[in-house]
Amino acid sequence: MEMKVVKFGGSSLADAAHFRQVASIVKADPARRCVVASAPGKRFSGDEKVTDMLYRCYEMVRTHEDISEFYAKIAARYTSIIEELGLDFDISGELDYIKNAILHHSGRDFAASRGEYLNSLILAKYLGYGFVDAESVVFFKEDGSYDEEKTNFEMGKALSSMKNAVIPGFYGIMPNGTIKTFSRGGSDVTGSIVAKAVEADLYENWTDVSGCLMADPRIVKDPLPIKSVTYRELRELSYMGASVLHEEAIFPVRNAGIPINIRNTNDPSAPGTMIVANATEYDAKHIITGVAGKKGFSVITIEKDMMNSEIGFGRKVLEALEDNDISFEHLPSGIDTMSIVIATSELEGRCEKILSNMNRRVHADSIVIDDGLALLAVVGRGMVKAKGTAARVFDAISGQGINIRMIDQGSSELSIIIGVEEGDLERAMEAIYKEFVKD
Ligand code: ASP
Repeated sequence: MEMKVVKFGGSSLADAAHFRQVASIVKADPARRCVVASAPGKRFSGDEKVTDMLYRCYEMVRTHEDISEFYAKIAARYTSIIEELGLDFDISGELDYIKNAILHHSGRDFAASRGEYLNSLILAKYLGYGFVDAESVVFFKEDGSYDEEKTNFEMGKALSSMKNAVIPGFYGIMPNGTIKTFSRGGSDVTGSIVAKAVEADLYENWTDVSGCLMADPRIVKDPLPIKSVTYRELRELSYMGASVLHEEAIFPVRNAGIPINIRNTNDPSAPGTMIVANATEYDAKHIITGVAGKKGFSVITIEKDMMNSEIGFGRKVLEALEDNDISFEHLPSGIDTMSIVIATSELEGRCEKILSNMNRRVHADSIVIDDGLALLAVVGRGMVKAKGTAARVFDAISGQGINIRMIDQGSSELSIIIGVEEGDLERAMEAIYKEFVKD
């Protein structure tokens, strides 16, 4: 029997009206048997997410402030959902217990996790589904890393005996019995973990947008949605700032070969975006799948005559970064020059130290750091076969009178990375989008 794991984000479960919408989506397909829920998100602009409110409660206790009034607001988010849905469900005992636990220093992660816990209890009741607490099926190891083996086993066992279930996203349990959360937005990760454990046919991730877009809608007007994208393309796009999914949510399902479908709760008939391992069966209409960009990079440029024949030169340069615990993003190099692109935030307050360390190791003719670089990634599996794509990208950019400061094309030909001045990023993105998406 077909099995789909469906995860609903905070904006999809923000109030009673959204709960109704979620229920109609779940009930529309009998394969949607495992539901992963987030905490209630914002209902309107300016509203607060329940997770943020819970973090605040925790801080208030730490600074000895009275939480009563503020906690009552959190409680009201849940009681109003229950009332408006007309559910016969008394959640006051849970709410009192949680308030007490927060007051008695139960931990920051515990406090934050209760947003998902309470929402999932209500959703399970509303759907008539079983409830499986994440603390009994999602495990972390002593060092805080996710325990995949134990989780797969225990979750697979617990869910295989159930017809259907709601599982709270975002958290699991440490070996010592304390609650630990994933990083923010981590319900996406839980959804992926559940999909893998139950060997789902599909992981549907329901959010408030109709999938991934070919460009950032704040920069390019009405960009087209992406019908299908491979896991690798998505990695490239999201690394460069296009985010629809928690970064770590890709790995569990990718390893298991389970596709992800990003869908819009507010527009359920839209097909959304399919994220798949291999997109050959999905026709790519455009040569590029998407374009994304990010500001805030610096370039260290090292020049030295005959650098290319000096054995170990690159290693010594990179060791200077390693000494300072710095990771780099790109490494375009010429015959006598080597450039290292690094997030400017990584270098803050440490430039002098790094440069002198590097110089000591390689005795360069010159080493300089330039800030204010933006990176642009033009991503597309279709670029591998299409001739002249790079030329079209560069023409589009230079046609706007924009100077290209760096080019890096991986040998996979899946993406072309271009460095421009930060102030030119938006125009460069628009130009590339227009060049490849004419309709
Ligand atoms: N509620 C958590 C957050 O706001 C996790 C999630 O929504 O995925 O980060």
